[in-house]
Amino acid sequence: MTATVAEPTGARARQTYYWRVRNARTPQSPASAGQAWHIQPGHPGGAYCDLGHEPDPPVHHTPTLLSRSWPTGRRRDEQEFRGGCLACEWEGPVHSGDGFGDGDNEAVEDAHDHCFPGWRTLPPITTVEDRWAVPRSWSRWAQLIARYPAGWENQGAPVVAWRRYRREAHAPPHAGRPRYELHVTRPPRDRGRRPADQEALF
Ligand SMILES: [Zn+2]
Repeated sequence: MTATVAEPTGARARQTYYWRVRNARTPQSPASAGQAWHIQPGHPGGAYCDLGHEPDPPVHHTPTLLSRSWPTGRRRDEQEFRGGCLACEWEGPVHSGDGFGDGDNEAVEDAHDHCFPGWRTLPPITTVEDRWAVPRSWSRWAQLIARYPAGWENQGAPVVAWRRYRREAHAPPHAGRPRYELHVTRPPRDRGRRPADQEALF
């Protein structure tokens, strides 16, 4: 890291600072903007996110993903991730990784620990088909959400689904599904019921 300028903390402030660097409003080189922590594109509050960009922070803790990267001279940039919150200045520990489930997943999980403590015990969606079908069935969705703590649904609590393969990346919210879809390991007690299932390999 060459950037030694004090950056603000908190996802929203960091995102603003990132755009100031990119738009050449600071002494930093615009090309170096990616080295400053910013919201990962596609995640809440970040570029390409279609959830909306409200000028005021949300009234409840809202998870997002921060990242930064810098060139290494090798084929790939070095990347780091940490969880962030759009409502407060909380930031999670730093995780290195290549993204696509490596480093970014851990950071998104930290952010959910901050916003929705206990989310790991939410009822999981257990098949890939149901990831699509349950949110589109009024009765099945009501059944799932009935097992969530009060108020969590409207605060964007995640949908938890058994992952298809190791390091399946968590899916950020979008306008059609205003909550993360978090891909978790199938619990050991449920393995082996269907030994032919690919999940048993992991
Ligand atoms: Zn927060």
